[in-house]
Amino acid sequence: LGTALAGALKKLGEHTVVDEEIMEACLKEVTRALLQADVNVQYVKNIVKRVNINELAAGLNARKLLEKAVFTELVNMLEGEGAQNAQNEGVTTKREKYAPKKGVPNVVMFVGLQGCGKTTTCTKYAHHYQKKGFKPALVCADTFRAGAFDQLKQNATKARIPFYGSYTETDPAKIASDGVERFKAEKNDLIIVDTSGRHKQESALFEEMRAVAEAVNPDMTIFVMDSSIGQAASDQAAAFKNTVDVGSVVVTKLDGHAKGGGAISAVAATRAPIVFIGTGEHIDEFEAFDAKPFVSRLLGLGDWTGFIDKIADVIPADQQPELLDKLAQGQFTMRILYEQFANIQKMGPMSAVMSMIPGFGNDVMPKGQEKQSQAKIKRMMCMMDSMTDEELDTTSLKLLQDPKRMERIGRGAGRSPMDVVELIEEYKRLAKMMGKMKGLKAPKKGGYGQS
Ligand code: GDP
Ligand code: MG
Repeated sequence: LGTALAGALKKLGEHTVVDEEIMEACLKEVTRALLQADVNVQYVKNIVKRVNINELAAGLNARKLLEKAVFTELVNMLEGEGAQNAQNEGVTTKREKYAPKKGVPNVVMFVGLQGCGKTTTCTKYAHHYQKKGFKPALVCADTFRAGAFDQLKQNATKARIPFYGSYTETDPAKIASDGVERFKAEKNDLIIVDTSGRHKQESALFEEMRAVAEAVNPDMTIFVMDSSIGQAASDQAAAFKNTVDVGSVVVTKLDGHAKGGGAISAVAATRAPIVFIGTGEHIDEFEAFDAKPFVSRLLGLGDWTGFIDKIADVIPADQQPELLDKLAQGQFTMRILYEQFANIQKMGPMSAVMSMIPGFGNDVMPKGQEKQSQAKIKRMMCMMDSMTDEELDTTSLKLLQDPKRMERIGRGAGRSPMDVVELIEEYKRLAKMMGKMKGLKAPKKGGYGQS
């Protein structure tokens, strides 16, 4: 092609290849760190798969960029949006974190295994919103654990929060609905229902939860999870999610030695965001959840702000290859795509790392389907061969999508117009991805991890 652009691309390609070993080592390192932090194996695989490798384009510090990518991915997962992606379940919708609304009775039900910190968390939650001007009230629907009502009573009294419970009634659903009715009548606007737990997930617990949920029809069901349960988090969270409509998660005991990675798995399993974390036994040891510092700690990156600095350090502005500039200006063309395909073909048998050439993640080159992918690439290059210079160098979709042109391109390559449509779709997808590389241009403090 002989253009300066092609030269830049070539350089880029070389960097990518040179970086293969480093990349593989980095991925391994990240995987190990995540597993050690109790993130579910499947999610680790998905995360690593989804990490947006195209930002490694410039052959910059691969390790730092990968860290940043994993960081962003985990933050997305935790904030609800990425959780669906993690399971490859189609459309992403950003989950709003639930917060009770003033002036209406908000009924919030807490569920979780025995000892996870439900009763403690109910009080903390009530206290938190009391400070914000709500009129909370606590209902003890735990008739299973001896002394449950006394515990709640004690907590509530200390925090000056009205409470309801019974020493004689044995039906938790009945207590729950009586309590909720009472507090609705008394104009409490945040009615918190504490439920019982069991040591294990067992059918009796789930039946009871369902009955209580039916009796009080909660506006929100909060799943409380002990952070120290580790790898079991994912299954447990899924079991609760399947029984009641878990919409929020509280992770407790993050003050201990727990690594907290289970929380990420729980969030992915419930697709519900973490709203608060418990950091101690005391009523004030309760924080609104913020994903960034949490993930920072989880990955052993230390302080989040420090992390930003580190990332900014590795991308000196004067080292931006020409390609990035072109891409930043939105100049991703069919010719660039062609050159990238050619690079891939030159490399012969695909490895995961080789497919990390900018923009060519796992969808273009899924592992185990290298042969099919190669054939697909060949087919697309063949169609590009029947394009005019104008078509190769344009950034106008309108021009490319002209039916007459599409038909001619297809015919020239012995392909159907549908194949040309497929090529253009691929181009569009990659162009969009390349558009994101803009972010690499001028790293600013605070600019990363927002994605
Ligand atoms: P429940 O059975 O789910 O209602 O759990 P409890 O609220 O009774 O809590 C069980 C134990 O965990 C109690 O000793 C609590 O003080 C303790 N606990 C709850 N939350 C936290 C926390 O965030 N940090 C620590 N260190 N202990 C907690
Ligand atoms: Mg309890």
